[in-house]
Amino acid sequence: MDYDVVVVGGGPIGCFVARHIAENGRRVLILEEHKEIGEPPHCAGLVSSEVLSISGVKDDVILNEIRGANIYAYDGTKLSFLGEKTYALVIDRILFDKRLSMMAEHSGVELSRDSRVIGFKRDNNKVEVIFIKNGRESKVITPLVIGADGAYSMVARSFNLPLPKEVIYGFQVEGELNCVNPYQVDVMVDNGTSPGWFSWIIPLSRDYARIGLGINIKGNPREYFDKLCNKWEPLRSFKSSNIKRIMGGLIPLGLIERSYTDNVMLVGDAAVQLKPLSGGGLYLGLLAGLICSDIALEALDRWDFSSNVLSKYHKLWMKSVGKEIKLGLRLRKIFLGLTDKERSELLRTLDNQEAKSIILSTGNIDHPWRVAYKIMTHIKVPIIARMLSLAFS
Ligand SMILES: Cc1cc2nc3c(=O)[nH]c(=O)nc-3n(C[C@H](O)[C@H](O)[C@H](O)COP(=O)(O)OP(=O)(O)OC[C@H]3O[C@@H](n4cnc5c(N)ncnc54)[C@H](O)[C@@H]3O)c2cc1C
Repeated sequence: MDYDVVVVGGGPIGCFVARHIAENGRRVLILEEHKEIGEPPHCAGLVSSEVLSISGVKDDVILNEIRGANIYAYDGTKLSFLGEKTYALVIDRILFDKRLSMMAEHSGVELSRDSRVIGFKRDNNKVEVIFIKNGRESKVITPLVIGADGAYSMVARSFNLPLPKEVIYGFQVEGELNCVNPYQVDVMVDNGTSPGWFSWIIPLSRDYARIGLGINIKGNPREYFDKLCNKWEPLRSFKSSNIKRIMGGLIPLGLIERSYTDNVMLVGDAAVQLKPLSGGGLYLGLLAGLICSDIALEALDRWDFSSNVLSKYHKLWMKSVGKEIKLGLRLRKIFLGLTDKERSELLRTLDNQEAKSIILSTGNIDHPWRVAYKIMTHIKVPIIARMLSLAFS
């Protein structure tokens, strides 16, 4: 065998998993199709402090701290809250990815950039991984492939593993924008400008922000972005000339029934380990990554890469990460079930001291169902009853 483990994809989750396996003295190769780790970026970079503590990445990747939000409905109705504590961090996502790749290399992982995996041949308890490096076809042999190759994973497709049930098409720009309060994010829920998802403004400073949206239908997200700029009050002064960087990306959603087969495990976006309400994938991907690397080490110790052993990975992440995804899918069901008018009514209902103190005391970007549960059990009005009926319909 050339390597104990080959990880396809040098994104944050692939580098994190590879590092944990290599730290235990195993030979690990990462094949990454891009020349530069972290580029092109495809993330809003909003994470909890847990993401830094689990990943071990130092806090100099933090660009800003978020202490509140303004949530807008289609008709301009606005719910604002601002607390004392930090609810989320805005990170330099390119630097974050690079740091994880450097930590992996430091642990002994071999990272092959500009190496696009194009196929596999599985035979007799080993896999031949075929890839193109610097324009030339190469291959390596390993008993275990970890697919960390993101949304619409080619590893998943090659081994007939399930693909995401739903995909959000994301679009984001970074540019100059006068942010009224740089510690508050703006979110707009409006089916006219971001069908099936939402739009966001994440300040990086007083005069610079990430502005983006997602849509759950086929179409050109850029056209929705132009519509958003014309409609959304905080973006009225925003012009194309203010844009410094444009990015797009897919956000896979759902809960997959199987994330392993003989000699193969999927992790991160490839295994659809993202929060269904917000599309955040770093927290759940890292948690699942810890389990994935533990099971990889167990399989290596036993020299058994059969589905029988690797199924333990799936069972374990279902208990923790999978449970969060299930709760998130319930919240998404409520979100999709409410009309724009009802979302506006909900924001008006929550615009009072009692609701805001629940939001500020229970709000947690990694566990959004906690605040939703508290609101749904404490506030007894028709729109909340409607949300409950949607959740359990
Ligand atoms: C618009 C947008 C905004 C987001 N905002 C947030 C946010 O605020 N917070 C958050 O937590 N998450 C966010 N996410 C999700 C987050 O970006 C992902 O969950 C995260 O990047 C998952 O990491 P990963 O390593 O699993 O996959 P990726 O980061 O996608 O990495 C996969 C890697 O595999 C490589 N690859 C793919 N195919 C091959 C191949 N055939 N051969 C070799 N290499 C290959 C790719 O080049 C890539 O480097 C956002 C996503 C989008 C699209």
